[in-house]
Amino acid sequence: ILVAWRREIELQLERQAHTDQLTGLLNRRGWLKHAEMVVAQAKRQGFSAGVLMLDLDHFKQVNDRYGHEAGDRALMLLGRCMSSTMRESDVCGRLGGEEFVILLPRVDETSVEALDQRLRTLFKFKSGEKLGIVLNFSSGLAFCDVSRPDALKRALIQADASMYQAKANGRGCMCANADINITIPDQLIS
Ligand code: GH3
Ligand code: MG
Ligand code: MG
Repeated sequence: ILVAWRREIELQLERQAHTDQLTGLLNRRGWLKHAEMVVAQAKRQGFSAGVLMLDLDHFKQVNDRYGHEAGDRALMLLGRCMSSTMRESDVCGRLGGEEFVILLPRVDETSVEALDQRLRTLFKFKSGEKLGIVLNFSSGLAFCDVSRPDALKRALIQADASMYQAKANGRGCMCANADINITIPDQLIS
């Protein structure tokens, strides 16, 4: 009984260490662990894996104007909208602050665009309804090149660059990495 009890406590602690307390999504550590497993599977089985990075637009203003608690409610709401929009095989996480990420197995750019649009529409509607402020986010998409050992980290850096491109394009939109040509220094990958 003691061994089983100890194992249960260990599992609980591991779950806690991988969970973002505010949104209930995976935290950075948990997301990376899950996502690495899916990318390894994508490599073995030959399916695609997209990384969609999301960052709330003008979120500092939400905190400044409506208070930190309203900001927290917005983060929780985005987490719920993500969970309800995604498929079971998608891996959703909060990387930190107002930055979120989704690993999408077996998708192409067109299907991610449609999914991004669905999530955006839902989030705008729900934030207006529940918080009285219509919120939006910018997002960036990159695909894992599973032939490389550092595929996930590279895709994260590229998705982040695409997300910043979406900010530069006026926010409230998704940008894919097609037109971004970045060279990633080796020290950023390791
Ligand atoms: P941009 O559209 O360029 O992304 O602008 P922004 O205001 O969203 O971005 P910026 O990086 O300037 O501000 C992010 C803000 O997110 C600042 C920080 O206080 C807030 N923030 C980070 N984590 C939390 C959190 O857990 N709760 C709340 N309420 N706010 C948070
Ligand atoms: Mg940010
Ligand atoms: Mg932001």
